[in-house]
Amino acid sequence: MHPHIWYPFTQAKVALEPLKVKSAQGVWLELETGHKMIDCISSWWVNTYGHCHPKIAEAIYQQAQQLEQVIFAGFTHDPAEQLAEKLVEKLGAPFNRVFFSDNGSTAVEVGLKIAYQYWVNQGQARSTFLAFDGAYHGDTFGAMSVGARSLFSAVFSNLLFNVEFVPFPSTHWGDRTAEETEAKVLSILEKVLDERGDRIAGIIIEPLVQGAGGMRMCRPQFLQKLRAIAQSFNTLLIFDEVMTGFGRTGDWFACHKAGVSPDILCLSKGITGGFLPFAVTVCSEEIYHAFYDDEPLKTLYHGHSYTANPLGCAAALAGLELMTEYEPQFRSMEAKHYAQLAQLKDHPAVEKLRVTGTIAAMDLVTQERSGYLNTISLEIRQRAIAKGLLLRPLGNVLYILPPYCIRDAELSQIYQGIEEILTDLSKDFLI
Ligand SMILES: *Cc1c(COP(=O)(O)O)cnc(C)c1O
Repeated sequence: MHPHIWYPFTQAKVALEPLKVKSAQGVWLELETGHKMIDCISSWWVNTYGHCHPKIAEAIYQQAQQLEQVIFAGFTHDPAEQLAEKLVEKLGAPFNRVFFSDNGSTAVEVGLKIAYQYWVNQGQARSTFLAFDGAYHGDTFGAMSVGARSLFSAVFSNLLFNVEFVPFPSTHWGDRTAEETEAKVLSILEKVLDERGDRIAGIIIEPLVQGAGGMRMCRPQFLQKLRAIAQSFNTLLIFDEVMTGFGRTGDWFACHKAGVSPDILCLSKGITGGFLPFAVTVCSEEIYHAFYDDEPLKTLYHGHSYTANPLGCAAALAGLELMTEYEPQFRSMEAKHYAQLAQLKDHPAVEKLRVTGTIAAMDLVTQERSGYLNTISLEIRQRAIAKGLLLRPLGNVLYILPPYCIRDAELSQIYQGIEEILTDLSKDFLI
């Protein structure tokens, strides 16, 4: 461990020495030692078009020579204006206003604050949010509050605000009970909203795929019904698309894939193609209008030093062009995952195979309890590194979430490696 660095999510006392990465290109990472690895998880889900994509690198370089940063209150600039226009155009109605911030957690914080104050500005105090079991929305306090209470937030539980949690209707390949599960969740939701809907500022969900909670997936049909319920009980619907946005689910955004529009949308991770920390929270004109007033207290008093950083905007603009270029790739990856997963389908240690767009996941059956601390994760990580694969299972959930530029042969190499690892783990009686 470096003597001056505090690494994230890491217990330094027991952690292995981190691997030093020298360079990256496309899906490949190269270590200081010369060892090469495929980035099977897009470096924590941020990289979309491959590492060091020259178009984004060039856009950042050009912008850096023109305007690198400027205060974004009382001042504005072309990259921010262009990006807002393009995003609104791409997202479609009802999205019309873009608020800039720096990362997924801040995008969520802003979304929660907008939802809460939207009601306050109309004379209604709504004291809580509704969220889903297994949710992950980030590591700042508001984001932690609407996330499932977990290992990550346990220490801070006394400081988190109250949130109502309902089950997440996760489903998988070949699941015949999806509709039944959804109906149960929907009836719980309706009951909560019926009893205390007037106290709920909004419902927040990771649409189609819950990321950190274990790549748990739900059907578009559920989101459609959720949309209708939020509407009929007059509460706001917030989609946290920090992970699912920008092609991840096989469409531009999960809300497009599901055919539903939330009231508030949070985007980050893939927005700059994985180059720079950047985020936006997008909402309708109707919501914006609730803040548009002569009364100072109706202002959204929120902002960050680097709000709408021009380099981030330039990277995001280049990223949008690449989205169009890589559209065939991110649209076709779902079928490729299914084709590859077919080989693993009957493996005795594998269950609940699931795919949404560019994301494939499965649960591994181990002797230990399921969950983040399941030691199979570390075992797989180590064996994967030796095979030239960066895999980082969430406990016993193994998933693949590659950059869209991945070639068929490279995707096969990942699955081949996984199959070998699973076979070895079976031999060693670990699964
Ligand atoms: C990663 C993630 C966040 C938090 O984003 P950070 O940039 O790590 O703060 C929030 N929501 C979802 C769905 C995420 O996957």
